[in-house]
Amino acid sequence: MSKLTLAELERHLWGAADNILINWHLIFAPKKVLEYVVAHEFAHLRHRSHEPEFWNFLTSLAPGYAAAKAWLDRHQSDLSAEFLECDRD
Ligand SMILES: [Zn+2]
Repeated sequence: MSKLTLAELERHLWGAADNILINWHLIFAPKKVLEYVVAHEFAHLRHRSHEPEFWNFLTSLAPGYAAAKAWLDRHQSDLSAEFLECDRD
């Protein structure tokens, strides 16, 4: 059985797929972003690289992932405790 683990990872690395590791800094992100990262890493259990089949599979898991991905791309360097005091969009 697979397990989900929250871990301290490099700040630009939001997850890793071997056992589905999720960067704990994502607790500061909207729930949809955390769901996107979990779906992204889950999709890597089937497709190791970001080949077209990977994105097709991810779309089937999380159809609205593009907005969450864009949010994470925009805010990835901000995710810290201080971020809670900033206005979020
Ligand atoms: Zn990936």
